Amino acid sequence: MGASAAIEIDAWLREGGLVVTASDRAARALIAAFHRARQTEGLTAWPAPKILDWRSFARTAWLERSSAEADARLLLSPAQEQALWVDIAGADHSLATLLEGPRVRLADLAMEAHELLCSHATRFLRTQARAGWQQDAAAFSAWLSAFDEICRAGNLLSASRLPLELAPLLERDTAERPPLLLAGFDRILPVQRELFDAWGTWREVSPGEPAAAVRFHAATDAQTELAACALWCGRKLADNPKARLLVIAQAASARRGEVERAFLEHAGPASAPLFEFSLGVPLNQVALPRAAYLLLRWLAAPIAEHELDWLLSTGYIAGDLKENAVLEAFMRALRRRGLERTQWSLAAFVSQRSATNPLPPPWVERMIEAQRSVSELARRTQSPLEWAELVPRLLEGLHFAGARPLSSAEFQAVHRWQQAVETCGSLGFDGRRMRWREFLSQLDRTLAETLFAPESHDAPILIAGPAESAGLTADAVWFLGADEDTWPAGGATHPLLPIEVQREAAMPHATPQLDWELAGVITNRLLAAAPEIHFSYAKATTAAEARPSRLIVPIAGEPQPLPAELASGPAPEPLTVLFEDFSRIPFPLGKVPGGSSVLTAQSQCPFKAFATARLAAQDWNPAEAGLTASQRGNLLHAVLHSVWAGPPEGIRTLADLEGLIDKAAFVAGHVQRALQQELRPHLRERMPRRYLELEEQRLTRLVSEWLDYETTRMDFEVAATEVKRTVAVDGLTLDLRLDRIDRLNDGSQLVIDYKTGNVSPTCWELPRPDDVQLPLYAGFALEDEEVLGGLVFAKVRTGGLAFAGRVGDAASTLFPGLKGGNTLVKNPLTAEQLLDWRDSIEQLARDFIAGHAEVDPREYPKTCEYCGLQVLCRIQEHQPQPDADDESDSAEAGDE
Ligand code: SF4
Repeated sequence: MGASAAIEIDAWLREGGLVVTASDRAARALIAAFHRARQTEGLTAWPAPKILDWRSFARTAWLERSSAEADARLLLSPAQEQALWVDIAGADHSLATLLEGPRVRLADLAMEAHELLCSHATRFLRTQARAGWQQDAAAFSAWLSAFDEICRAGNLLSASRLPLELAPLLERDTAERPPLLLAGFDRILPVQRELFDAWGTWREVSPGEPAAAVRFHAATDAQTELAACALWCGRKLADNPKARLLVIAQAASARRGEVERAFLEHAGPASAPLFEFSLGVPLNQVALPRAAYLLLRWLAAPIAEHELDWLLSTGYIAGDLKENAVLEAFMRALRRRGLERTQWSLAAFVSQRSATNPLPPPWVERMIEAQRSVSELARRTQSPLEWAELVPRLLEGLHFAGARPLSSAEFQAVHRWQQAVETCGSLGFDGRRMRWREFLSQLDRTLAETLFAPESHDAPILIAGPAESAGLTADAVWFLGADEDTWPAGGATHPLLPIEVQREAAMPHATPQLDWELAGVITNRLLAAAPEIHFSYAKATTAAEARPSRLIVPIAGEPQPLPAELASGPAPEPLTVLFEDFSRIPFPLGKVPGGSSVLTAQSQCPFKAFATARLAAQDWNPAEAGLTASQRGNLLHAVLHSVWAGPPEGIRTLADLEGLIDKAAFVAGHVQRALQQELRPHLRERMPRRYLELEEQRLTRLVSEWLDYETTRMDFEVAATEVKRTVAVDGLTLDLRLDRIDRLNDGSQLVIDYKTGNVSPTCWELPRPDDVQLPLYAGFALEDEEVLGGLVFAKVRTGGLAFAGRVGDAASTLFPGLKGGNTLVKNPLTAEQLLDWRDSIEQLARDFIAGHAEVDPREYPKTCEYCGLQVLCRIQEHQPQPDADDESDSAEAGDE
């Protein structure tokens, strides 16, 4: 449908003719084009064009005639029809329909199969014609009979049957009807043809001349292809700002984010949106409806912590901005106190106490009141309409979305949300009743199935899928993804219909030939949709090398490399102004919280030290279903502290250890005590008992193995555990806490730090150590009479039990028989090393005091991996972050 077709449609409409389009999108595009044309003519008012999409056309025609024929059947909406199919599938009592999710998916498949029969093979709507169907098709056949019976008994009519019912009504109706002009039909289905014939005179818009300029480009990869397309659009609009461009992208919805980024980056800056997508996004992905739904769900059941975080962050559930800030501060306070949990019920949330950030009483009252209303009703079954009426009352009572004025897009989302709620309310059409949770479940599905696109801004670039582009015209078209595997687009046959029926009726994807023919029709239609068309494909996809589409090559010739002007050059200059803040705010001398971790952070990245120690910034620990790595680390520390705490319950020396008669029972006792004392009640309550038993067994086994390892040491005595000391480093006062200090056989001190991760003393290496805890202790925390014998990590981890560190004379003081090749012997602790560490640590303290806060990780991206301050330092804006998959030792920094 090219320029000549546009002229033909315009002339038809101006004469008051009726145009029927294949899709709603095409109808909207034609209406917009009609209005644009009148504005261009300088008119200020004109009659509305008569344009209907196929479904609206059939529905309107049926409603007009059914009342005349006293046909009182209710025309089912998609949600109502789906509800009937779900009931029918559920009544099957097969394994596949036991759960709600699979049941709904099967119901959707059955609806599709019914629609295919109505549009392609109506004879199979008779039960006898389906007599020979086997297996899944036979099950569907039985469901269809049940559906027919329900419709007959309930006086209901499926929208798929409507054209079939309408045709005889039209034949009986002798009134004169206007001729129809059809636009945007890639294929006229048998049922459509029958209906148009019954209507009277009709014809399709003439296809128009194929494009004069057709090109086929080969790009190296999909990203380059997309960038070239966006650049091309930008250039076209620079040449002619009034141009209208159509971009065809396969799987446009799935690639939405990728396409958006490419167009924002390459299509050039603009004051108004340059592009829009023809398809919207599911309503459950739009913030306001999603927040409304989550809030309703929270009134009756717990929601996940990340959902609650998100809900609070939207600001929709607060009555005003101040209340919103308090709610967010309350959540932060909970996380700081380690009270995170995977699920939050409303009751659990409001029962939390915070001295510094209490919940706003009016908010609590509103929530409790709404919850009371819901819980009083939730046990009842009532009509969906009654539930639908309750929803706005609840949201209003909660002051939902009342904190600030809504934007235009939010207003539209509210409208769409209300429609979704009404759709759910309409499910009472057959007198069914449901509980609140069933209503919410239906609402969830409806939101997922409802597409939302904010009002069109008539952007010059429209991005659409091949089929959705039916009826659209433009000044130029770019077709992305014209490779052999993607175009013609393949598809699967329908699983609930016999394959021979699908082939005989030429249903979509029944044979490769049908796919080929349909793709050919769409391609020809696109060729006539604009005077200039570009096809492109990417030579390399993620899976393999790709070849050009065999359908496009005969039309556009062999693909050519992208012209130089469409090769994406360097990224455009960022609009943000780079500003490096070199100002420094000195730290007033004195105590800083965080212990040695402050200087460790100063070495890892000065900004990290500044943000954590001076701004009190911290990463959230997401709640886990079980114990987190940090909680498990804390438990291990507690057990070992208890074991080596000395009499009466603990032991102190190697001799004590060797003298244990029942080591397993000894360890088990300490593990039980530690679990009892360390696990907070809220944690213990939400962990299954069996899980805690297994954790207890794991800890007992691990600590027993560690004690076995320690029995191989030379004589030692534990001088102290969980040692607290306060040190001053160049005016900075730090509280330190050491896991353990042993007195070795030569009287020297061995400083020990427990670790469950795979750590190495290389983290102490200068000039920028990754960890300064033990060197700091060695240099500043020893008493005058104490002699340092070594610093070691005690690696208490399954399969890797070991001491790792620097020891003055490991062969004489630590383990008997250590050979020269052992790293503890090979790399002894030296006086020079201690002096170097001391100098480095003093420099770090001076840098911290001076206010050095550069974003300068010592080893990017490794240093940032577990830091969690990326939103503050913004290091990631142009850098990918690796996945975190190891246990964190963050909780094991042993200082206060
Ligand atoms: S994420 Fe990296 S750059 Fe940012 S503060 Fe942490 S360590 Fe520094």
